[in-house]
Formats: sequence, structure tokens, C-alpha cells
Amino acid sequence: MNAHGQTFVIVGAGLAGAKAAETLREEGFDGRLILIGEEPERPYERPPLSKEYLRAETEQKPFVHERGFYAENDIELWTSTRVTGIEPGLNELLLEGDRRQGFDRLLLTTGAVPRRLDVPGANLDGVHYLRTVGDSERIARRISSGERLAVVGSGWIGAEVAASARQKGSEVTMLEMSSLPLERVLGPEVGTIYRDIHRDHGVEFIPETTVERFEGSDAVERVITSAGAEIETSFVVVGIGVMPRVGLLETAGLRVDNGILVDESLQTSLPGVYAAGDIANARHPLYERHLRIEHWANALNQGPAAARSMLDHEVSYDEIPYFFSDQYETGMEYGGYALDWDEVVFRGDVAAREFIAFWLQDERVVAGMNMNVWDVNEQVRDLIRSEERVDRRRLIDPDVALEELVGQEAGCS
Ligand SMILES: Cc1cc2nc3c(=O)[nH]c(=O)nc-3n(C[C@H](O)[C@H](O)[C@H](O)COP(=O)(O)OP(=O)(O)OC[C@H]3O[C@@H](n4cnc5c(N)ncnc54)[C@H](O)[C@@H]3O)c2cc1C
Repeated sequence: MNAHGQTFVIVGAGLAGAKAAETLREEGFDGRLILIGEEPERPYERPPLSKEYLRAETEQKPFVHERGFYAENDIELWTSTRVTGIEPGLNELLLEGDRRQGFDRLLLTTGAVPRRLDVPGANLDGVHYLRTVGDSERIARRISSGERLAVVGSGWIGAEVAASARQKGSEVTMLEMSSLPLERVLGPEVGTIYRDIHRDHGVEFIPETTVERFEGSDAVERVITSAGAEIETSFVVVGIGVMPRVGLLETAGLRVDNGILVDESLQTSLPGVYAAGDIANARHPLYERHLRIEHWANALNQGPAAARSMLDHEVSYDEIPYFFSDQYETGMEYGGYALDWDEVVFRGDVAAREFIAFWLQDERVVAGMNMNVWDVNEQVRDLIRSEERVDRRRLIDPDVALEELVGQEAGCS
């Protein structure tokens, strides 16, 4: 494709958008390149916002690129600019303030927003959500003064905020709808490990509870649970998942179903329009279904893949999903995608929280998580990608290198 003289626009100046812009220039795109974001900052990474940045261990905002990067690479970065609509027939974007911007190719990287809790008192002061640098700074001020926190939801955001708050000395109560933290993704075996980690650090974990309402005069003072319990608190962080930001897209004629539907090359149903990152529900060649992945590595890798696709390179995005989490002194990495499994087996020392957990289905590894064991997740993902049956005994034997398990299918008993 000769993109000379063309205008490529990226809507959504987060990690996926910023990495896509970088890749377009690296791949030699020399047309006009505009990166539009509604936040006031240049693109930054979100994982530190529930970890070291939240604990105020660093004042450095976790920017994706140095300040001068965008100008040096002739990338027009329009911050504090919201796109309000797309007119695909005209290849035009509508911007706040009745402005319009044309495009030859468009990449949507609009990410996700926290799901809101719709209960009485949800709008009281002191009920927080965490997505942006500003959110993180507001919560950081509360935890640095050791105020009492109630966390609603014990998914990744809730669990990491609870850990950071405990590390800063807050009393923390965690309310969870199911019986264990992170149970939906990890299942009961590893969910139990996370529950115990939080309890060991003094978090009061309340399972099988939903919020009936928040009460307080000016600001939130207590949470009333579905069981009628009253939990006194100084502030609340709600972490009950995110929703893809499809608002501006639905009228544009794009196929939307749990995010923007894209094919393996990250193209939407409209010619010349692509999507990547948290917003994209992408057909995965290995899993033979659409996956919407809300993790850092997906934004990091899918943005560049979409950029190549915009330049008509042959792209089939087939990365095995990967994410990481840090809570207290416990770090983990998870590779794979598992909705169902037959069993979870462990290699290493579960009691010491140094192990690899494998999710097995039909004797094949469909996901693997290393906790406080490092430099193994790539091998875990190789095992998953191989789709080979594994010898369970050798899988859990720490003396057998994981590399040895790939290509061994014939030897399985
Ligand atoms: C607190 C926190 C901690 C996390 N920790 C981890 C972790 O430990 N490990 C992990 O794997 N993942 C983690 N994640 C998830 C990871 O950060 C996300 O998957 C990643 O940020 C997705 O990047 P993205 O570029 O697709 O979207 P986003 O980061 O959401 O960026 C999208 C951008 O588009 C902008 N935008 C949206 N609509 C418009 C519009 N109409 N006009 C203009 N701009 C618009 C938004 O304002 C936003 O800046 C964490 C997320 C959060 C919030």
C-alpha cells in the first residue's frame, strides 16, 4: 500500500494507541498521523496505578513515551480532545466543539471504563473507581493517611488496591459477591490462595455479599450489605469490572458485541477501520473464537499489530493472553485462556507461595500461572500453544524442565 499523503487517525491515547502510533512510524508510514485522547496527559500505562503509584512510592507518572517523542516522530497528539462520533461514509470523525477531522484509515483504541455500582448512595463523596492517574491520586491521598477502606469486588483491581492500602496501613474490608477472590478466572484452588494471602495481611474478607446501599451525611460513612451487615468506613473503592467504551461507535455501523468485533487482522466490519486493546473483541486463530482481553500485554502487542494491518501487512494476531499482578510480596504471571478445565495441578511449594499452577483440560495445559517463580511463563505459553497432551507426573515435577514437555506427546501415558 502506498500510504504517502494519507491521514491515519488513532482514537484513544492509551497504551494500545501510543504503541500503534510508534509502530506506524517505525514501519515507515510518512503520512499525517493524529493520536486523539480525552485525558489531559500524554499516554501512560495503568498497571502502576493500583501498585507503586498508588502507594506513592514514585512520583513519576508511568508515561509510555518521553515527553518529546510525539513531536520528534511527527505524531500530532491531541490531548483533552473527545471524539463524539464517526461518519464512516464520509471518513470523518466528529470532535467535541463541532469540529471534524477526516481520515483515510482509523484505529480505535478507546479502552474500557469501570462498571458503576447502581445502588442508593453510590454518588456519595468517598465512593471511588480506579482507571485514571487522577483516580489513583485521589485514592492515594486517602490510603496515605491510613483511612479505613471498604473495597467492593475482589477482582484484580480490588485485590491490588486492598493490598496497597494494607501496605500503607489502612484497615481494609473486602466485599465479594462469590465465595473467593478472583474465583471467576482462577477457580477455587487458586482463589483460596489469594484469600489466604489477604487474610494473612489483615484484610477482612467477606464472601457472598453484595452492597445494598452506602450511607453517610456528606460523604460515605458505612456500607450496608445484602445480609444487613453495617461496615463502617472512611472511603470505598469499587472494582467490579470494566465495560468496553463502545458508546461513540454503535451509531457508526460498526459490529459491536462485547466490544468492537474485529477479525484476526484487527479490522472491524467497516473498511479502513481497525480496533485494538481493551475495546477489541478479536477473533483468535488458536482459540477459534472472539476474545476481548483487558490486560496490559494485549494493549502492548495488539496496538502494533493493528498498525501493521493498517499498512496492509499480513497480520494474524495470535498471542496467547498474558497478564500479571502484584499483591504484597506476591507476584504472579498468568498465561492462557481457560473457561473450563478438568483440574488444577501444582508444581512447587504451594504453602510457601512459590509454585506454578496448571489448568488442564483433556490432559492439555490450557492456562498456567507462576507465583513468585520467574522466567517460566513463556515456556508455559509454549506448552499451551503446542496443544499437546502432557504427562501429568512430569508436569508437576520441578526437576523436569518445562521445555522438555513440548514435543513429548507420544511419550504420554
Ligand atoms: C488500575 C489498573 C491496574 C491495572 N493493572 C494491570 C496489571 O497489573 N496487569 C495487566 O495485565 N493489566 C492491568 N491493567 C489493565 C491494563 O492497564 C489495560 O488492559 C490497558 O490499559 C488497556 O489499554 P488500552 O490502550 O486498550 O485502553 P485504555 O488504557 O483504557 O486507553 C484508552 C484511552 O482512550 C481514551 N478515550 C476513550 N474514548 C475516547 C473518545 N471518545 N475520545 C477520545 N479519547 C477517548 C480514554 O480516555 C483512554 O485514555 C490495569 C488497569 C488498571 C485501570
